[in-house]
Amino acid sequence: MSDINVVRNYIGGKWSQADCDGHLDVENPATGETIARVPLSTAKEAGRAVAAAHAAFPEWSRTPGPKRVSYLYALRGLLVENEEKISRVLAEEMGKSLPDARAEIKRVHQNIEAACGMPMLQLGDKMIGSAGGIDGEVIRLPVGVFAAITPFNFPAMAPFWFIPYAISTGNTFVMKPSEQVPLTMALATEYIDKTGLPPGVFNLVNGDKTAAKSLIDDPDVDGVSFVGTSSICSVVSRQCAASNKRCQAMGSAKNHLVVMPDYSKMDELIRNMSTSCYGCAGQRCMAASVIVPVGDEMYRAVSERFIEESKKIIVADPLDPAVAGEPMVMGPVISAKAKDFICAMIEKGVNEGATLALDGRDIRVPGREKGHFIGPTVFTGVRPGMEIHRTEIFAPVVCILKADSLDEAIAIINDHQYGNACSIYTQNGYYAREVKLRARCGMIGINVGIPAPVPFLPFGGAKDSMMCDIKMQGKSAIDFFTEDKIIVERYWEEA
Ligand code: NAD
Repeated sequence: MSDINVVRNYIGGKWSQADCDGHLDVENPATGETIARVPLSTAKEAGRAVAAAHAAFPEWSRTPGPKRVSYLYALRGLLVENEEKISRVLAEEMGKSLPDARAEIKRVHQNIEAACGMPMLQLGDKMIGSAGGIDGEVIRLPVGVFAAITPFNFPAMAPFWFIPYAISTGNTFVMKPSEQVPLTMALATEYIDKTGLPPGVFNLVNGDKTAAKSLIDDPDVDGVSFVGTSSICSVVSRQCAASNKRCQAMGSAKNHLVVMPDYSKMDELIRNMSTSCYGCAGQRCMAASVIVPVGDEMYRAVSERFIEESKKIIVADPLDPAVAGEPMVMGPVISAKAKDFICAMIEKGVNEGATLALDGRDIRVPGREKGHFIGPTVFTGVRPGMEIHRTEIFAPVVCILKADSLDEAIAIINDHQYGNACSIYTQNGYYAREVKLRARCGMIGINVGIPAPVPFLPFGGAKDSMMCDIKMQGKSAIDFFTEDKIIVERYWEEA
């Protein structure tokens, strides 16, 4: 146990052991082995990180934009050079397949690339002659110190939804990753350190809700970006509103895939849906978990084919060399606690009358008996309002629910508490347009199972999936991380 690496904090440009209230084990969810220990940083420790960020702000905010983004170019280079290393750390602590981990790191690169364009988006506006002899000007300035609190399922991408944008626009930053997956961000911080970024511009604090809450409460934090479950999201957004802080608060999801009767490319459809439902073992805010075929014929065809496809998924330790190169590998869920919750939800689905067409509870992965594996699980005959339909299970558990018309399918989507994303499969432009306009989801896919936008576009849901006004990424980032100042100016000739 004493050989196990204890994750450190990075504050004011220095690595240090945290002032903490104990440690948690970081587990490889595929083997059940403890691979590191993470400190539960105290409020005082979080305060130290905020103080470092606050002290660094005046100089960093005056550093020219091109100079600020030069550190991001350097960081991107280091991340590209070490792509395989960081992907493996990510796969080991989170449990997603190596292709999924590599794809996540690619999204990190893209977020950095998008943020390198921030100086251009940060240009202001000028109105010559807003009144006689008076000009008006809009300038976009950095705000101050930002903090981010992120979930376990994207150990790299979720922090990088914020870090590059905050820094490139001249703010300073404190990052608190999920205590379940601190290692990817610790490694990324080593690369940040190597860029020579001035001390205090970026700080890393590990811990749980104690550190998170004290970051949100700290009067020197000007804005908070939170990604996690909606119940906590709602607390965070209210906490921020109470102290007049900027807030991005992205919550839970239950994403529907509607299949219209005209859709004919069945092989492609089933593969596309399977990738959406089973990638990252269903632990993605963009994962589909409800399939809604429209009409009896499509319901029968999709149910039969999807169950067959689900049986082809290889459930394994993503780092097991025996599965390297396999296209359809699914790793474990994040913890024993998550697995218990998922199994309880499957039991509930059976008790409330849905048909358990494929049961992944008893899956065995030889040599990985302590891993937290759940095999693909499919319920048919699900009705709206059943608990397995209402609740985000965050697992490879799929509900198939029949609708009799497009209107009914849209109503099912819109009656749901969450509205992160939904997709429609059709070649009919009218059906697609109806979903585009009427479905109350933040992100819509048309013949695309995971409508996750690239970082040049905004990212964010609707209803209880997003409890704030400003989305992440793209042009939204400039709105969140800068404040406008309006200048009205008049000069006259010296007498
Ligand atoms: P979680 O809510 O348990 O934890 C998220 C973060 O919140 C962690 O860093 C945790 O330490 C911190 N936290 C815990 N209690 C807190 C409190 N009281 N105050 C402040 N911070 C607190 O979420 P999770 O299980 O790690 O992640 C899965 C959830 O995240 C799912 O609901 C998923 O849909 C959601 N998610 C949403 C998006 C999106 O874009 N909408 C993206 C990824 C994940």
